[in-house]
Amino acid sequence: MQHKTIIEPFRIKSVEPIQLSTETQRIANLKKAHYNPFLLLSDQVIIDLLTDSGTSAMSSAQWAGILEGDEAYAGSHSWLKMERVIKDLTGFEFILPTHQGRAAERIIYGHLGGADKTFISNTHFDTTRANIEFSGAEAIDIPIDAAHDMADFHPFKGNMNVAKLEALIAEKGAANIGAVILTVTNNSSGGQPVSMENAEQAAAICKKNGVLFILDCCRIAENSYFIKHREAGFENRTYKQIAQQMFALADGAVMSAKKDALVNMGGFLVLKDEVLADACKSLLIITEGFTTYGGLSGRDMEAIAIGLEEVFDPHYLQYRIKSTEYLGSKLRDMGVPLIWPTGGHAVYIDAKALYSHIPSNEYPGQALVCELYRLGGIRSVEIGSVMFGKYDDAGKLIPAPMELVRLAIPRRVYTQSHIEYVIETFAEIMKERPNVKGYRIVKEPKFLRHFTAHFEMI
Ligand SMILES: *Cc1c(COP(=O)(O)O)cnc(C)c1O
Repeated sequence: MQHKTIIEPFRIKSVEPIQLSTETQRIANLKKAHYNPFLLLSDQVIIDLLTDSGTSAMSSAQWAGILEGDEAYAGSHSWLKMERVIKDLTGFEFILPTHQGRAAERIIYGHLGGADKTFISNTHFDTTRANIEFSGAEAIDIPIDAAHDMADFHPFKGNMNVAKLEALIAEKGAANIGAVILTVTNNSSGGQPVSMENAEQAAAICKKNGVLFILDCCRIAENSYFIKHREAGFENRTYKQIAQQMFALADGAVMSAKKDALVNMGGFLVLKDEVLADACKSLLIITEGFTTYGGLSGRDMEAIAIGLEEVFDPHYLQYRIKSTEYLGSKLRDMGVPLIWPTGGHAVYIDAKALYSHIPSNEYPGQALVCELYRLGGIRSVEIGSVMFGKYDDAGKLIPAPMELVRLAIPRRVYTQSHIEYVIETFAEIMKERPNVKGYRIVKEPKFLRHFTAHFEMI
């Protein structure tokens, strides 16, 4: 029998209680948090969809690995295990452990960057861009045009515009390109996948011009799922083989293990070239730790090694991608405007379309984030004018191009009934739609204001 229901392919061995709350309590909590869910305590949240980063549930095998962790300063067997697993997956010779993804980014992009350098990506993730710009270099995003069309189905909306890539390399001069970075899946562009064909084209252009080609591979297992099911010729390849084929195109990769390595902390940098690897190793030792641990404990490395193998389990990946898609398609059927198709790790709601009566300078995304908390105790994150808005010289808001709210799904944490609860909350969101009011900012810091700003309902 072929079952329709895709079940969680795991049993629950250890549970973490959720504090349930009433709407009255949540209204008080929201007020205390100045209508900014970043200022809520995690105990006040029923379903936390703030991020998929570092929020994964580890398996019993990973927890057993924690006890096996070898905390030796040099030559720890946990490091050898992590190194072996990463070498097998990526095919790279030089493996550098780091405490998280941005540390790997700082090392490699700090080294390759500098005032005259340009980096090009399908879309730079915020920490990637910040590390590049901090070195004095510029970071240019070249997603394909379909990335801007929220509702139109495109199987690989995360792709890089390769025609623009050629033109940009010619314009800037190959010697001035720090690196070309392909982010898989494309996190800042809705978690949308990148096709193998696109990766091959980008790699070929880089090779022809002698430019370094780096993968930002935080979600490469999720990306491999989309390739197997959406790109011709990959039906009979395993997810791991697909990932290996993509790694083989690159000169190196940066990974935040907080995503597809199914752990709560960690990362790494992998490279093909020995000279570049040696330069990065020196920086690693100065700022992160010795080359056999980076900023990690032995137990962390043990858990990463195990997680990197578990993530390619076909049943896990099917459950992972299908459950994100399930939430997206149910909301879409209810008329909730969102980015379609859903990406791998999150559903992105178009708050501007949902609350068309709230102008950008009254932050429709913030209104939705507050409504989700009030009605369901659900925490999400605004990715719109609160996060990316700027002011002109007259102090008038220059809004972000889109007003999105991201529902990021932690890996192996929530069950189908939690997701049904989120869907039910959205039914109420749709009913309450006309009554919802915008917000004004009453206090904000100069940088990264979304983390700490205070709001007031208008
Ligand atoms: C999370 C993330 C990073 C940064 O990793 P951290 O572990 O948070 O430092 C870099 N790139 C992408 C695409 C990410 O999603």
